[in-house]
Order: sequence, then C-alpha cells, then structure tokens
Amino acid sequence: MGEPKAHANQGEIPIGKSDSMKGMELAGQDEVAVRSALLAWFRRHARPLPWRKSGDPYAVWVSEIMLQQTQVATVIPYYQRFLEAFPTLADLARAPLERVLEVWSGLGYYRRARHLHQAAKELVRSFAGKFPQDYEQIRSLPGIGDYTARAVLSIAFGLPYTLLDGNVARVLSRLAALRGNLHQRGFRRAVEAHLERMLSRRSPGNFNQALMELGQTVCLPRAPRCGACPVQTWCRGYKTGRLHLYPQPRPRRAAESHYLAAAILRRGPGVAMVRGLGEGLLDDLWNFPSAFGRSREEALSSLRHTLADFGFPTLTLDDSIAELHHGITHRSIRVHAYRVEISSLPRKSGLQWCAISTLKQAAISQLARKIAERVL
Ligand code: SF4
Repeated sequence: MGEPKAHANQGEIPIGKSDSMKGMELAGQDEVAVRSALLAWFRRHARPLPWRKSGDPYAVWVSEIMLQQTQVATVIPYYQRFLEAFPTLADLARAPLERVLEVWSGLGYYRRARHLHQAAKELVRSFAGKFPQDYEQIRSLPGIGDYTARAVLSIAFGLPYTLLDGNVARVLSRLAALRGNLHQRGFRRAVEAHLERMLSRRSPGNFNQALMELGQTVCLPRAPRCGACPVQTWCRGYKTGRLHLYPQPRPRRAAESHYLAAAILRRGPGVAMVRGLGEGLLDDLWNFPSAFGRSREEALSSLRHTLADFGFPTLTLDDSIAELHHGITHRSIRVHAYRVEISSLPRKSGLQWCAISTLKQAAISQLARKIAERVL
C-alpha cells in the first residue's frame, strides 16, 4: 500500500529523522504566540479546582498523587476529604497508616496512599516538615517520580520544569503535527523539545496547567472542540484536517479473564476479613478470604484450600449467593461469593472479625465493598 500521500506533504514530523524535522516544527514566533494565548486563556478559563486555591506544595503533591490514574471529577471529593482529615503535612505524618488507608478507601491504587504517608514521615524526619525545592531531593521521597517532582517544582515553587503526560502529549502532537505516541522515544523527544522551547519561564506552573487543562477540557481525545480552542490559529494538525492521525494510539493490552471465589464467613453481626486478595493484589486492604482460578470450579477449589490453610478444612461451600463483575488493572474478574456460618476464628489464622455495621468506614477494598453491598 505504501505511505499515505498526506503524510509526505502535510507538515508532519517523521519520528526519528531529525534532519527532515528542520523547518517543519512550529516556528519560533508561533511558539511565543501559542504560549501567550495559552496563558491568557488559562487566566480566564481555568476550572476552580480545590487544589488550585493555594500554592501549598503539600496540596499540589496530594492532588498530583491522587490524579495519577484517576479522573479529576473522581478525585475532587477524595481530595477534599483527605485535606479535611490531614490539613497539613505534619498531620499526615502523625496519622496511623490504617487511618490514611480508610480516608483513601475507594480511590484505588492504595500503594499511592502508603507512599504519601511514608513520604510525609520522611519530610518531617529529614526536611523539617518542608518540601525541598531540589529535584533530586524530591525524587528521593517514596512514590515521587519524575512527573510529580516536576509538578511540585513548577506549580508550587515556580521553577522552570516542563510537564509531560498523556493530555499534554496529545495537545503537542496535534499542535505541531507530530505522529507517534509517548511509548516511542523519537516522539517523546520531539514533544519534550517543543515543551522546553515553549515553557514560560515567568509562569511555568500556569503554563503546565494550561496545557493540561486544554487537553482535559478542549483538545479532547475523540472529539476535540477546535472551535473553542485558544491556539487553533497555530495548530498544524487542525490544518491538515486529519486530526485522527495525532497522536497514534498504543496497542492495547487485552483484559485477562479471571474467576474469584470469596467466602463470607459470618458469626452474628461479624464477618471474617483478611489483608490482601492474593497474587499480590490489594495487599493493604481488608478483603473477604478469596481465591482466583481460570474457571469457577477452579476458583472454588482453590478457595477450599485457602480456607483449609486458615484452619477450616471441612467447611461446606456449595451454593454461590452472589455473582458480580469487577475490574482490577487489566484483570476482568467474575466473582462468586459463598456464605458460611462459623462459630469462631482459629488463632493466628490472619483472619479478623469485622463488625458489619462498621464495614463502610473500614479500609476495605472496592471489591469487598461491592460484595458486602450484595450479600450483607
Ligand atoms: Fe487541539 Fe483542535 Fe486546539 Fe488543535 S485546534 S490544539 S486539535 S483543540
């Protein structure tokens, strides 16, 4: 079939061929104009997100950690609840981990909460409870990667660090007609080079947030609202009329199907819970004793073995009382829950009684919450 004709003459940048990129990038004066238009637009249209009220590095940090893998609308109530529970870094450092996980409960990816807590303790211990303004020092904290360090440095401290995430990459890909995706080194380098040149040295935080805001509210993945876009005049992708080419999608990993058998071990107003779900999943959270399998029968058989390990070798688990679906990262899980009345818990089994009336406030997984709503 050969290369589509449009690629050769519509101002695209072939990734990895730097000589042919010359003269095709956004011109210097266009970059200046885009920067000014973006900043002016952000001043007028920035959403009043709660973490934008203060430039406090703690608030910026918490919001950035919550926004990893989670949508803005979902994060807002969790962020507010978290800041109410732990208004300052010192409050977070002082709190027991169990309480932090309770407040985080429902947001998913609990390793983030654990890291926040560890990093808060480290900041109090080694940095007098204050965020350092040094990239390497921030990166040394648990759970803080390149992106979060740059976000805190640019947004909270006004230091000239660029920020590159999926939203920003999409905007730049379209704006400069760059083909590829963030998993291709040539594409990433081309986007980073544009960002470095365009970054506002005077307001790096606002510039970074403006690009993200544009990606989240205007330059949308499927239906960009070019008519409302402050940089349409300079957008090379828009001019090609073939926006679907920018950026190129990454091949998706197919969801794996799993079965999970969960035991609802009850005694009066209590139910037995255990930390983790097995296979390294949800280790910080309370769950119903469970086991995975490739079929319903295999999961049930594994659950019998699991319960025997807990000290219940002869429980009868015949009929499932509830069936539901749940997704964890790339796993699509079909869950069957089995209810059994028991009289006591074996000592040192790892199981713990939890009063059903307090389950809602406990640090239980989203999956356990779903099961509890159906069967308790
Ligand atoms: Fe995105 Fe359209 Fe704006 Fe270009 S003109 S940056 S494609 S919203």
